[in-house]
Amino acid sequence: LQTKLPKVGTTIFTVMSQLAVEHKAVNLGQGFPDFAVPDRLIQALDRAMRDGHNQYAPMTGIPALRQAIAAKTERCYGYRPDADAEVTVASGASEAIFDAIAAVVRPGDEVIVLDPCYDCYEPAIDLAGGRAVHVPLDPATFAPDWSLVRAAITQKTRLLMVNSPHNPSGAMFDADDIEQLTALLRGTDILLLSDEVYEHIVFDGRIHESVLRHPELRERAFVVSSFGKTYHCTGWKVGYCIAPPALSAELRKVHQYNTFCTFAPAQWAFAEMIEAEPEHYEQLGAFYQAKRDRFREQLLTTRLKPLPVPGGYFQLVDYSAVSDLDDAAFCRWLTIEKGVAAIPLSPFYETPPQGQRLARLCFAKNEATLDAAIERLQKL
Ligand code: PMP
Ligand code: GLN
Repeated sequence: LQTKLPKVGTTIFTVMSQLAVEHKAVNLGQGFPDFAVPDRLIQALDRAMRDGHNQYAPMTGIPALRQAIAAKTERCYGYRPDADAEVTVASGASEAIFDAIAAVVRPGDEVIVLDPCYDCYEPAIDLAGGRAVHVPLDPATFAPDWSLVRAAITQKTRLLMVNSPHNPSGAMFDADDIEQLTALLRGTDILLLSDEVYEHIVFDGRIHESVLRHPELRERAFVVSSFGKTYHCTGWKVGYCIAPPALSAELRKVHQYNTFCTFAPAQWAFAEMIEAEPEHYEQLGAFYQAKRDRFREQLLTTRLKPLPVPGGYFQLVDYSAVSDLDDAAFCRWLTIEKGVAAIPLSPFYETPPQGQRLARLCFAKNEATLDAAIERLQKL
C-alpha cells in the first residue's frame, strides 16, 4: 500500500503511555489529569442522558452550549462572538484543528508552524495536500522570532498556526508578540489558526493574550479550545472553534461530514457547568499554579533542572546533569529503568536542536502521584 502519510508512526503519547503501563512507571508523559472531573459536571452529564439527550445534536453544537461559550468568551476577552454564525462545537480541539486545516488548505499551499509544535498539525496539513513550513522558536525561551516567521512567508502561505500557552514548553505570547503578529499579517490574506487549549491555565498573574481580544487578528482566525483541559476530562473529547462567519461556514462543511456532531449529553453538561460555575475556569490558573509550585520545589531536590512554566500543565526539565542520552533514549530509560514516564521533545520538531537535553513532565496529577514520581527522580 502506498501510504499517504509516510512520516507518521504511532504518536509519542501512545508509545510512552504503553511503555509506562508495561513497566509500571508513574506516568507523567501523556498530558491528562489523574484527578476527578467536577461533581456538578458528572451530575449534569448523568442528568442529560436520563433526560433523553442521547440523539444527534445539531451539527454546529446545541444552542445552549454555543451561547454559553459566547458569553464566557465575552467575560474573558471582552468580545462576544455570534453564537449561531461563529461558534462551532467539535469532538475535541483535535477535530476542530483538522476541520479548519482541511477547510482552507489547498494542494500546494504552505502552512507555517512554529517548532516545537503539537503533533496533530502536520499530518492534517499533509492530508490537505499542503506543506508545513517549520520555523523554530527560540531554543532557550520558546518565544517566536517574528523576523524568522516573516522570512518564511511566500506567495503560497495560506495559514499560520500558533499555540499559546504552548505545548510542550508552557511559553506564552505577550503583548509585544501580539503586536508583531498583527503587523506581520496586516495587508496579507494569510489566515491564522490559534490553538488556545490551555487558555485558562496561566500563572503568576499573567494574562492570556487570546487572539479573540484583538479585532485585527480575530477577523482572520480560527481560535480553538478544549473542554478536556479546562474540566479535567480529556477523554470526553469536546472542544470548539470560534471564527468569523465565512471561516466558520467553511469549517462546518468539513465538520458536518467528518463527525457531523459531537457527543450530545456532554454538550448539555458543559452548557450548564459554564453558566453555573464560572469560578471553575476563573480559578483554574490558581489551582494549577499550586501544583506547579509544589512540583518545582520538589524537583529542586533532584538533578533535573526545571525550566520556567508561564502556563499550561507541563514542566520541561533539563536532564543534562543526569545523562548524555538523546531525549528519546533518555525518556525510554527513565520509564523502563527508573519508573517515571516522560515525553521527549524531538517528536515536536522537524529538526530537533542539536544536543538539546529536555524532557516534558505533566504535573496535572494528584499530590500522591507527583510524590511517587519525585521519590524515584531523587534516585537519578
Ligand atoms: N492542541 C494542543 C496544544 C494540545 O495539547 C492538545 C491536547 N493534548 C490538543 C490540541 C487536542 O485537544 P483535544 O484533546 O481536545 O482534542
Ligand atoms: N495533548 C496531550 C499531550 O500533549 C496528548 C493527547 C494525545 O495523546 N493525543 O500530552
